[in-house]
Amino acid sequence: MGKTRRYGRQPEIGSFTVSFDNNNKTSENIWGFHLKLSFMAEKNFKKYPDAGGFFHEYGGAFIPPVLESEMKKICDAYTSLSRSHKFIAELRSIRKHYQGRPTPVYYCNRLSEKYGARIYLKREDLNHSGAHKLNHCMGEALLAKYLGKKKLIAETGAGQHGVALATAAAYFGLECEIHMGDVDMAKEYPNVVRMKILGAKVVPVTHGLKTLKEAVDSAFEAYLKDPETSIYCIGSVVGPHPFPMMVRDFQRVVGIEAKEQFFEMTGSMPDKLVACVGGGSNAMGLFYDFLEENCEIYGVEPGGRSMDTGEHAASLTFGTPGILHGFKSYLLQDEKGQPLPVYSVASGLDYPGVGPEHCMLKDFQRVKYVTANDRECIDAFFELSRLEGVIPALESAHAVAYAVKLAKEDPNKSILVNLSGRGDKDIDFVLEKYGLPEER
Ligand SMILES: *Cc1c(COP(=O)(O)O)cnc(C)c1O
Repeated sequence: MGKTRRYGRQPEIGSFTVSFDNNNKTSENIWGFHLKLSFMAEKNFKKYPDAGGFFHEYGGAFIPPVLESEMKKICDAYTSLSRSHKFIAELRSIRKHYQGRPTPVYYCNRLSEKYGARIYLKREDLNHSGAHKLNHCMGEALLAKYLGKKKLIAETGAGQHGVALATAAAYFGLECEIHMGDVDMAKEYPNVVRMKILGAKVVPVTHGLKTLKEAVDSAFEAYLKDPETSIYCIGSVVGPHPFPMMVRDFQRVVGIEAKEQFFEMTGSMPDKLVACVGGGSNAMGLFYDFLEENCEIYGVEPGGRSMDTGEHAASLTFGTPGILHGFKSYLLQDEKGQPLPVYSVASGLDYPGVGPEHCMLKDFQRVKYVTANDRECIDAFFELSRLEGVIPALESAHAVAYAVKLAKEDPNKSILVNLSGRGDKDIDFVLEKYGLPEER
């Protein structure tokens, strides 16, 4: 049974890889033992980002000059902290004792029986506060603490990032200011209440369309006024360098755990991986440590109501390269480069851009980007609830829907799905808008 050792010691290293896996044959990890990384020589997915923060041609830092020095400070601090035993030990302890990690990998008995293929879930819904987002929020807040910052600033659309960040701020005793469009505040009222209970200040944004884009602008303005004592905490693998890299590294714990757990359960690697893609953090977290393995990888974008009318948010599927919020990515944009309004039944997925690393992985054809629409998402939401007793977030239900599609196509395969969050936040909306399946 010597083979099980293959992954036995990998768990935390990767969460902090910055430059030591740059295309080296061997590389010294943070504990000083050597990892064989010969596969890197052939497949260079992991040498990115480059020094300018580019993943091949995407990413970078398209920001006002005042922010350049601040981003450099954050990047330098992160680079050294990511190799600091103290920082790593503190984050590991938080993950174990506060977040409840590792989260399990679960074999779906009844879903698998129904569709033939072997379907597994990485249960990020069981991470504290109910989704993967706390993985990077705790990392960002810990970084803020080490930098001596007093205040965390962020925008939120549906409120999930705001709640996760407010949770992290409470844990570390930091101030927290969340900018949120007026329209979103009305729509996502329970999350507004959660943030307030957690002690965060929620700043309503009342100009423009009063949704996510305006909230980002407003949060950026607030940050620009006080970059010395505050830090902007981005909610996915997006934004200017070093955020896409940092958030990915903080989320890597998902894939590192899953790889070891899956191997322990089955003695092999999954044939297929599936995760939903909004900005792309839960997907990047699962995918990263499987990139060099022989698995097919699928990122599922929200197909929304209709692909023909543009009522979707499938940036990688339908977008073209452009710049938004300080970085270059595939973008749903008009002829003038203005971001188009986007839509998904899952509000955590409706962003017109997408993480730069995903853009690169699409161009390199390492990951296939596909879509699941609203209807497929709602069907998967009820199916997983009723066959497995797990109510998924609507975002995660997109991944489940696509996994079911893959299972129908080829029943002899194993499929590992990242169940990025729990669906409690969505139950009222689903019942009101769609009703129970038997009542339709
Ligand atoms: C926010 C959210 C997402 C989308 O964000 P990514 O950065 O693409 O992971 C997916 N699932 C859940 C449960 C979320 O809350």
